[in-house]
Amino acid sequence: MDAGRLQRRVAVLCVGLDDFKGINEQFSYQTGDQLLLALADRLRAHSGRLGALARLGGDQFALVQADIEQPYEAAELAQSILDDLEAAFALDHQEIRLRATIGITLFPEDGDSTEKLLQKAEQTMTLAKTRSRNRYQFYIASVDSEMRRRRELEKDLREALPREQFYLVYQPQISYRDHRVVGVEALIRWQHPEHGLVPPDLFIPLAEQNGTIIAIGEWVLDQACRQLREWHDQGFSDLRMAVNLSTVQLHHAELPRVVNNLLQMYRLPPRSLELEVTETGLMEDISTAAQHLLSLRRSGALIAIDDFGTGYSSLSYLKSLPLDKIKIDKSFVQDLLDDDDDATIVRAIIQLGKSLGMQVIAEGVETVEQEAYIISEGCHEGQGYFYSKPLPARELGAYLKQAQRSNAAIL
Ligand code: C2E
Ligand code: CA
Ligand code: CA
Repeated sequence: MDAGRLQRRVAVLCVGLDDFKGINEQFSYQTGDQLLLALADRLRAHSGRLGALARLGGDQFALVQADIEQPYEAAELAQSILDDLEAAFALDHQEIRLRATIGITLFPEDGDSTEKLLQKAEQTMTLAKTRSRNRYQFYIASVDSEMRRRRELEKDLREALPREQFYLVYQPQISYRDHRVVGVEALIRWQHPEHGLVPPDLFIPLAEQNGTIIAIGEWVLDQACRQLREWHDQGFSDLRMAVNLSTVQLHHAELPRVVNNLLQMYRLPPRSLELEVTETGLMEDISTAAQHLLSLRRSGALIAIDDFGTGYSSLSYLKSLPLDKIKIDKSFVQDLLDDDDDATIVRAIIQLGKSLGMQVIAEGVETVEQEAYIISEGCHEGQGYFYSKPLPARELGAYLKQAQRSNAAIL
């Protein structure tokens, strides 16, 4: 045996574009097609290192890198493709930026046929996209079982709404002007018959992928508005309801009509419903997002930007969006006492919000020290375990009554 001989490998890279649908919506299908051709040209430029390039249909390409010795060579190719995409495409007098996620399999370790290698590379890419985009990921054996689990969960998710497996919990939001409960945030829960409670961070992305988020989101809005009506009727007539919106919902043409109808049907005053959209969701397509936010706002709803600070915030876009409120992401609030950078970020966000005339709320407030800091910086509202965990409707009702009594006692 020749111990010095290195193993020859083949790598299969599945390149999937991030949010190509959004590009087709924003521009036109013709532009989308031209873009794919331009992309194919760019990929071909790597052909010195490639054995083959093929379009898999839709917005996916496969590259085969023949005769490599080490996996890192595939990683280098993947990274250079991602780097290459950093430069915008000039089409129709517009600059269009593409990003991609790449799944990688290796012959012989990950499979012995082209079909298997391709299929696993595609699965790896799909799974990587749900975590974070614009990166590459090598296949790992556990991807198989994870994919199987996700497919099952996705199937169950389609049944969850008719089978009434969802419910909402509510977390109070405290005003620092008078320490009263001024609002609650509705958070969805899925009680799975076998797996128990499935966290929303796991199933919301699945629901966004398979489209069920539209129906689920409408159900959440309906439940939350109905509940708010009930609390208003019980005398908490200034209470506000915050509801999370997925980006998919935001770009759904029916949403403003749905919100309008609900506000009327449950006779809710304008500005009693607040819709939370994430910063990253807005950034994907600012001009469309701005239009959709405007029509939502016309229905009387308030708009809050959620998880603020985690995306690529820029002053100019913030100014161009119709926003009422900034919600500081809990990651900054949680570390602000140990991490000077986080304390600075929290202070800066509060200042920023105030100078733009927006309300600022901090989420994830867990201690009295954190509360003291954000109050001293001028934050308007807070939400977090320090006040209460998210509670089922009945328990939150009791919380509201209790809070009202202790407030009356102080006054
Ligand atoms: P989010 O909107 O950032 O919600 C806040 C999350 O932080 C909630 O997790 C909440 O339980 C948790 N939290 C609240 N206070 C504290 C605290 O003091 N400390 C810590 N460590 N955590 C705290 P949850 O309920 O698991 O929700 C996770 C995410 O799922 C939400 O993040 C939101 O993005 C999404 N989500 C929840 N409900 C819905 C919904 O109805 N529709 C949509 N589209 N997304 C939803
Ligand atoms: Ca939220
Ligand atoms: Ca958040």
